[in-house]
Amino acid sequence: MSLFSNISSDPPIEVFHLTELFNQDADPSKVNLGIGVYQDENGKTSTLPIIRSVEQQMANDLILTKNYLKATGLDIFCTAGLKLLLGEQSSAIKEKRACSIQSLSGTGALRIGLDFLYRNDYRIGYVSEPTWGNHQSILQTVGFEVRKYRYWNQEKLTLDIDGLINDLESAPEKSIIILHACSHNPTGCDPTHEQWMRISDTCKSRQLVPFFDIAYQGFSSGDLDMDAWSIRYFVHDAKHELFIAQSFAKNFSLYNERIGHLVGVFKSCDIVSKFRTQMTTIIRRNYSNPPVHGAYIVATILNNPILYEEWKTNVRAMYERIHSMRQLFYSKLKQLNISGTWEHIIQQTGMFAYTGLNSRQCQLLIQKHHVYIMSDGRINVCAITLNNVDELVEKFYDVIT
Ligand code: PMP
Repeated sequence: MSLFSNISSDPPIEVFHLTELFNQDADPSKVNLGIGVYQDENGKTSTLPIIRSVEQQMANDLILTKNYLKATGLDIFCTAGLKLLLGEQSSAIKEKRACSIQSLSGTGALRIGLDFLYRNDYRIGYVSEPTWGNHQSILQTVGFEVRKYRYWNQEKLTLDIDGLINDLESAPEKSIIILHACSHNPTGCDPTHEQWMRISDTCKSRQLVPFFDIAYQGFSSGDLDMDAWSIRYFVHDAKHELFIAQSFAKNFSLYNERIGHLVGVFKSCDIVSKFRTQMTTIIRRNYSNPPVHGAYIVATILNNPILYEEWKTNVRAMYERIHSMRQLFYSKLKQLNISGTWEHIIQQTGMFAYTGLNSRQCQLLIQKHHVYIMSDGRINVCAITLNNVDELVEKFYDVIT
């Protein structure tokens, strides 16, 4: 009899489960609209050529060492990542009030950032309703009480800005507010600049702590600076103390290297040095130190003007493909004259479209049509190609009508 025979099983994680079902499906017309990875016009998630060429250089670099990095990561990566996020001219960087800690991609950044806040007596965390599922899970695992702020108006298929502001207004002081800096997952619906200003004002007056999550910089507008607007406004104009979890999985196509960073911006530089000591402790107790491979690739690209320009072009190209597939999907849906509006699909930005399909319709798409879709109706727009779009739209038509 095992000591562990009575352990319970956890429910599957929807997006992984969906991918497993998709992989097992032998139907040639199958499409996976679930998992959030970039796919090219042939439905492939290939490594960017720029990454391959940096890796080739790395393979020949005799000085490059595999010795331990320090817990807080590779300095040339952290400095470059901070500039990419806050801008070359950032006053917070110049005043040394901003600090970047290398992390195990975006998820790892959220985890260590929330660990830091919990050990400093923060206890309540707010997430948008809906949000990326892991936000709530990580907050809960760390020990936070999770609350939700309104975000999506299901009737109007837009942002519920008044509901959002009302909920933040009634949040207790020192609550942590998780905000998607751009390309909101799953709705693809971001606040306008004016709405961000209102959110910022409310966080300020209620003494709330903004915690930005930015996993898709460049995918909302094609422009890296524009997609960091919300964060830069909060840091430079409104002068918040805040946290940012950034993932480089999507915009560098480095899903497996687990490369990202946690950024803390504070009132003064003396807090930064204390923050770094605590982050060293937190990381040491979790995984001791981060891996160097992805950090070295990202640092090499960001610190070399020619490679940086090439990468920006790659990000722009990924954005353009997503954007054009979004337009195509919308126009095909419209041609079918299905009742209701599809305008929201083209108003949304980033990798996802929040279609408005209900869970029954999504189940039908999976079971009858081999189209794998999240039960909330979210689709990965990059999974749409010129080859599958017509069939896909017909299948949508079938489950809606
Ligand atoms: N935040 C959001 C909103 C995401 O969609 C993702 C990726 N699915 C992440 C964070 C982090 O992903 P990763 O840990 O792979 O960087």
